[in-house]
Amino acid sequence: MELWDNYSRKIDYLRLSITDRCNLRCIYCRPGLIKAQQERKDLLTYEEILRLVRCAVEVGISKIRLTGGEPLIRRDIVDLIRAIICIPGVRDLSLTTNGILLPYYIDGLVAAGLKRINISLDTLDPQLFRTMTGGRLEDALKGLRWAQERGLNPIKINVVVLAGINDDLEPFARMSMEEEVYIRFIEYMPLESTNLATGDSMRGLSYQEMLEKLSSYGSLRPTANPEGAGPATYFRYQGARGIIGLICSESNCFCQSCNRLRVTSDGKLKTCLFGSEELDLKNYLRDGSTDEQLKGFLISSLARKPQKRSQKFLSRDMSEVGG
Ligand code: SAM
Repeated sequence: MELWDNYSRKIDYLRLSITDRCNLRCIYCRPGLIKAQQERKDLLTYEEILRLVRCAVEVGISKIRLTGGEPLIRRDIVDLIRAIICIPGVRDLSLTTNGILLPYYIDGLVAAGLKRINISLDTLDPQLFRTMTGGRLEDALKGLRWAQERGLNPIKINVVVLAGINDDLEPFARMSMEEEVYIRFIEYMPLESTNLATGDSMRGLSYQEMLEKLSSYGSLRPTANPEGAGPATYFRYQGARGIIGLICSESNCFCQSCNRLRVTSDGKLKTCLFGSEELDLKNYLRDGSTDEQLKGFLISSLARKPQKRSQKFLSRDMSEVGG
């Protein structure tokens, strides 16, 4: 079975935020405003996540990403990965993490069958890393190195670029020349809460601005997306081992090729990251609905998927939606 929305987009990708809790405090993700953590009873349980994935796969989803918050904070993460990989029809399972806890979990994750991973890493400068995330760069780098040594491939490094803060992209450009990694520069997406906390002072770099900077470090050529499709536009420096990706939803909108559904850490289904509409998926998982009803709900949700985003700001913190 395949899932198609009203605008002829095939929907085959489900991103699940499995916790809103995080061990870092990235300035662009969870802003200075102190917000209470979601209550444990509001997070989807292990069984609910597995049932959801199984039903989603039966109606046409084949790619799953676990995100958060920090997904490695969930105690059942290794079991979840192992169980999801065993669901027939899951073609691709990935994890987005800040990498800090990878040294503790990597062996379990690899044994469970995880093949690839995305690691968020916004700077290679220890002091700036501390300022941007509250954590220690050496811990994040250790996580990255362990993932590389255990053979996860590809490893995609996500860098959210903020003007005047971490917009010196050269260290990452050099890294892509020397190492077999994907480095993906992500345009900052404004959050309502960040806007309130900072008075809209945080600004991302646009596609054009990033490309100009990157081109000044060496000869950069467009290259095909190694995965065939996706929101990133890829480039490679001449002779480089790694590649560079740009993901710029603000200045280079890719709504027309959106293939995703998202589930928030408290079990709401979002058909658009930038839409305020949230459908109460958790209710279906907890009110005695049958699998057929749950699948019907997933299929009917596609009629709610807008053609284009309609809002400037994201109404939820990224830690709840999962990026
Ligand atoms: N804790 C994990 C991590 O750090 O990768 C997963 C959660 S994080 C919310 C998922 C992704 O969202 C990360 O790559 C992060 O950089 C990105 N992200 C968070 N806030 C963002 C924002 N305001 N604009 C663009 N990307 C953002």
